[in-house]
Amino acid sequence: MKKRILVVYTGGTIGMVMTDAGYAPDSGFERKMREAQNDWPEVGAALDWSWLAVEPPIDSADMTQRHWLEMRDRIVAALAQEAHDGVVVLHGTDTLAYTASALAFLLRGLPAPVVLTGAMRPAGQPDTDAWGNLFGSMLAYREALSPGVHVYFHGRLLPGARVTKLHSDLDDAFHVLRPESLPLQPLRQQIPFDYRTRVQEVKLAVAPLYPGLRAEVLRALLSGGVQGAVLECYGTGTGPAGDATLMDVLRQAVARGVVIVGISQCPAGRMAPGQYAAGSLLRQAGVLPSGGMTREAALGKLFCLLGAGVSAADMAFWWECNLCGEHGQ
Ligand code: ASP
Repeated sequence: MKKRILVVYTGGTIGMVMTDAGYAPDSGFERKMREAQNDWPEVGAALDWSWLAVEPPIDSADMTQRHWLEMRDRIVAALAQEAHDGVVVLHGTDTLAYTASALAFLLRGLPAPVVLTGAMRPAGQPDTDAWGNLFGSMLAYREALSPGVHVYFHGRLLPGARVTKLHSDLDDAFHVLRPESLPLQPLRQQIPFDYRTRVQEVKLAVAPLYPGLRAEVLRALLSGGVQGAVLECYGTGTGPAGDATLMDVLRQAVARGVVIVGISQCPAGRMAPGQYAAGSLLRQAGVLPSGGMTREAALGKLFCLLGAGVSAADMAFWWECNLCGEHGQ
């Protein structure tokens, strides 16, 4: 029995063509894909696919929350119209890991698995990695894929909520530096959203800590109606706790209802904010530690939880729960 896959094209290098200004997104990818499939007979033997283009195709550097919501709505509507065994999303690599994380939360509970892929060089180039990634991700459906969001790149299937783009020009660009997911613990209460929940756009900030960061710079970043922020802390979750003004800025923002979550700037390992007094003080100021979450996952989770209307007061509980495999170690 052949599998049926929905291919969703959003743009990215995979379908780009050269212009006077450099590579730019192009709309003619479906035809190129049907032609290229002639060299991959195993694809046609194993599955049929239907096409869905999110117009206009973009360089994923232009990706926004609105695009994520539109992608989700289009995927959910297409699957409601016609049953599919899975979805393959073609995406630019620059923000692919952000989209994978955001979709992992936005599409919670979707009955079909979703695989994101892209390419480091356009499909029209002789040395392209496009077809290996695209047809490889489709052929991955020959096995039973677990529900949820995955990334397929350079021959590997990776968990969507823990993946990061680590290289700007190698084919092997995507990695998971925290390979183990913490157990998906049974939840004491109903998760506040799934793929049917209405989610709104949210004003978010990302603030890296660095030696010399001035309190007024952080204050400016956390003002203007920001609803949530990812604070990129040092090591196991420390920061300049000796700077009373800066700590006040954090406390005041939390008191205003801004949800501030802390991640580690280290690409691997987990936070242990109680290990140092400097970490405990950040925690006391109201910064929620994120274990081993990536920046992409923290941003996607904040977006979905806040966008689904979870209150700042409930956030601490949901932040600790491993909802989509985002808590890695
Ligand atoms: N700038 C491109 C994009 O993200 C890079 C790529 O696809 O590899 O759309």
